[in-house]
Amino acid sequence: MQFDVAIVGGGLAGLSLACALRDTRLRIALIENHAPTRPAGWDARVYAISPANADFLRKIGAWKHLDAGRIAPIHAMQVHGDAGARLDFSAYETGVDELGWILESSLMACELWENVKRQGNLTLLCPAAPQALDLRADAAVLTLADGRTLSARLLVGADGRDSWVRGAAGLSAHNTPYGEMGVVANFACARPHRGIARQWFRRDGVLAWLPLSGDRISIVWSAPDALAAELLALPADELCRRVAAAGGDELGALELLTPAAAFPLRLMRVPRTVAPRLALVGDAAHGIHPLSGHGINLGYQDAKALAELLAAAPAWQDIGDERLLRRYQRARREETVLMQTATHTLRRMFREDLPGLGPLRNFGMNLTNRLPVVKNLLVRYALGAI
Ligand SMILES: Cc1cc2nc3c(=O)[nH]c(=O)nc-3n(C[C@H](O)[C@H](O)[C@H](O)COP(=O)(O)OP(=O)(O)OC[C@H]3O[C@@H](n4cnc5c(N)ncnc54)[C@H](O)[C@@H]3O)c2cc1C
Repeated sequence: MQFDVAIVGGGLAGLSLACALRDTRLRIALIENHAPTRPAGWDARVYAISPANADFLRKIGAWKHLDAGRIAPIHAMQVHGDAGARLDFSAYETGVDELGWILESSLMACELWENVKRQGNLTLLCPAAPQALDLRADAAVLTLADGRTLSARLLVGADGRDSWVRGAAGLSAHNTPYGEMGVVANFACARPHRGIARQWFRRDGVLAWLPLSGDRISIVWSAPDALAAELLALPADELCRRVAAAGGDELGALELLTPAAAFPLRLMRVPRTVAPRLALVGDAAHGIHPLSGHGINLGYQDAKALAELLAAAPAWQDIGDERLLRRYQRARREETVLMQTATHTLRRMFREDLPGLGPLRNFGMNLTNRLPVVKNLLVRYALGAI
């Protein structure tokens, strides 16, 4: 089987890249272990999607069919320090309708999956997994576990943080485990959240309450391993009390909708995200602390940048040429490093016990809250507007 682009991994990054290449002359293969499914009730894995990425999803045709009743707009954000400091952002003050949207991961994945199933220039290989990779001068040759082989001018690793493609190509990844887990769960709340995303920088981690449609919230508590294990082991009513109290009971009593789950957190830097005949996108190319909610937002922007580069390449151009692919690497480097550094530094500032750091970080938050220009810049950056 011969293709122009073979994408390993049909998570959100790989699927959105495939969709973004729909109107090109490229023949695409998508190799995925298993098709996405929708859990009964609410998915505990939800993402804050920036307006820039909502635009991307609109352009590739994956936004308009999403169930509008499951998309929650963010009208404002409140960020609390550990000593009473607070930063407020609002869509109204920023001059936009929404700061972003909260969506379930599987909602987006299933919609993107339906799109690629109908895509004329795409062959979906699922269930399938790669077993061997031969990066030749003229093609990447992939042998699948079921014995089939395929060759492509460009192989894309979109296979997540433990990327098989990255390893098989010999690209290094530097991991810094945070010693924390992201504990996620959904709750019904007694009082309306009014479209406000809330975040607390606490001594025992960072807690985010994200608005879901109706009187529901989804939480991500980036907690040290021991606390995460404790939270996971709590009976439902006790977990509700702990989470409500950690958020100052702002939304009244909570009721658990989906059992808590946890994901280990780590910073992952990948110095080279391209090689001859190869490019990495999404979590295969970077790992970031979830406190800024930027993980898949970076992944979507990777997919967008790579798709634009490939779509613009003239027919005579070899799309697996590393000199061309380095343009993609350069285009994505700045934002990725900036977000990794900012989230890493913020997290350290609130976890470390250096004398004077507590008052300083809270003073910094209060000061920023009183500087409309700085606040506006921060929020416009998060919206993808600068
Ligand atoms: C607790 C937590 C909260 C988060 N919150 C947010 C948030 O609010 N906002 C945000 O933007 N991001 C958030 N993230 C990050 C986000 O989850 C990831 O960035 C995103 O899922 C990465 O998507 P991906 O497609 O790159 O990789 P993945 O989702 O890992 O997808 C990889 C795909 O490749 C497939 N695959 C893997 N190996 C193979 C193989 N060998 N053969 C075939 N197929 C394979 C897998 O089946 C999977 O479908 C959060 C992460 C955590 C841990």
